[in-house]
Amino acid sequence: MTSIHTIDLHFLGSSESTAAFLIIGPSGPVLVECGPGSTLNTLVAGLAQYSVKPSDIKDVLLTHIHLDHGGAAGWWAQQGARIHVHHFGAPHLIDPSKLLVSAQRIYGDKMQMLWGDYLASPADKVNALHDGDVVNAGGLQFNVIETPGHAMHHMAYQLGDIAFVGDVGGMRISARNHIRLPTPPPEFQREVWQASARKMRAKGFSRIYLTHFGLLDGPEVVAVHWTSVEALADIYANFVYKQIVSGADRDTIVQRFVAWEKQRMQADHMSEADLELYNGVGPTDMSADGIMRYWKKKMGSS
Ligand SMILES: [Zn+2]
Repeated sequence: MTSIHTIDLHFLGSSESTAAFLIIGPSGPVLVECGPGSTLNTLVAGLAQYSVKPSDIKDVLLTHIHLDHGGAAGWWAQQGARIHVHHFGAPHLIDPSKLLVSAQRIYGDKMQMLWGDYLASPADKVNALHDGDVVNAGGLQFNVIETPGHAMHHMAYQLGDIAFVGDVGGMRISARNHIRLPTPPPEFQREVWQASARKMRAKGFSRIYLTHFGLLDGPEVVAVHWTSVEALADIYANFVYKQIVSGADRDTIVQRFVAWEKQRMQADHMSEADLELYNGVGPTDMSADGIMRYWKKKMGSS
């Protein structure tokens, strides 16, 4: 019998912010997501609770290569695991120099504290995926679903009527009544994300696992979730659009966006602690920048 375990990586010391998933299949354990280097010890300790040793992990499936999802992939590859990742992401695992330069630009001297070590993956350990591929791992079949919008190189993984959805499902911490879309630069694209949400809804999954954070259980809950994600992409884009056409500068737009996100959370009866939790995973200023960038590209190209 296959079992699925959500492992809390306690990213930056907070519970329920970022997960990795351990799936124990008929012929061995599989990881979906591995988190950043900074939480590697937590992940290894989490696996030990299920009597899984690092050397038992032969396959790691990444939804995308952002550091909170796949920062530790190189370490796993160097232990001998195969890393499965979108073909756009694969070169960056093998040669992470560009990825690290752009992360360094964003995170500066906080880089090590946030993300820990990022190691290169040996090329023969990286399996570059395309939409519709099947990954055979742990005696299980994972169907690969290309789901761009948060990032161009985003994949979701279907296992029967279950899916591991990474960030295309947004953030919804432990099934709380609040969804936030992480829309960091440079790849947020409203229409593309919405198409991915519709694609996922059409699959009729009975359960989905969000990296931020945990299980959404029940086909109705899941369907409504995708509808909300699709609607939110418009709501986010429209809010920022109004600010741009009003002539507000970047800092003002960020300020207003942050305040608006806080109001949205309060309207959903979230606490201050929840606000901090959501902000820890998806910083609102970064999300505002990502949507501004989306509009800049779109306006520039029309
Ligand atoms: Zn993420």
